[in-house]
Amino acid sequence: MIRKIVHIGNPALRQVADPVDIDKISSDEIQGLIDDLIETMRDANGAGLAATQIAVPKRICVIEVNKNPRYSYKPDIPLTVLINPEVTFLTDERINVYEGCLSVPNMRGKVDRCPEILIEGYDRDGQDISFISRGISAGTFQHELDHLDGLIYTDRMSDASSLSTLDEFAEHFEDEFKQQVINIVDSYGS
Ligand code: ZN
Repeated sequence: MIRKIVHIGNPALRQVADPVDIDKISSDEIQGLIDDLIETMRDANGAGLAATQIAVPKRICVIEVNKNPRYSYKPDIPLTVLINPEVTFLTDERINVYEGCLSVPNMRGKVDRCPEILIEGYDRDGQDISFISRGISAGTFQHELDHLDGLIYTDRMSDASSLSTLDEFAEHFEDEFKQQVINIVDSYGS
């Protein structure tokens, strides 16, 4: 079922989400929620969606990038369901990249992200997962995990002057940013 995505200003986006009881991952409630997150993300052409964005305060998010029309420059990420995810930064380096968010319609802004991270958590079968993500994709994961702590990318912007509407971003900054993405993918592999 496609759920309503709440927008910046909605208090649901500011809630710190509750961990999911591991014994309940296989329940109809949690499996149905995961299915809804995937369907809603795909319907909105999102690169990811966190449960807080549909006003459900549980630590679940989904990520998928497959030739995304909202983010033509993003490297693909296979569908990933994360339950109770934790992130560890593996480098002090930072990349400064444009992000957008389904909960902040029609906007882009630049955020510092760690380009090499370890993500640990559970998948939808309740199995442990642990993997390293790099480059632009690492930023995508950090963006979704932030939602589970009530954070929006605009909170992470060190310079609010980079905030643009989609049209202005496309006209003034997208070409330069696409080149930056190519350089990041060259450096980090994704
Ligand atoms: Zn978002």
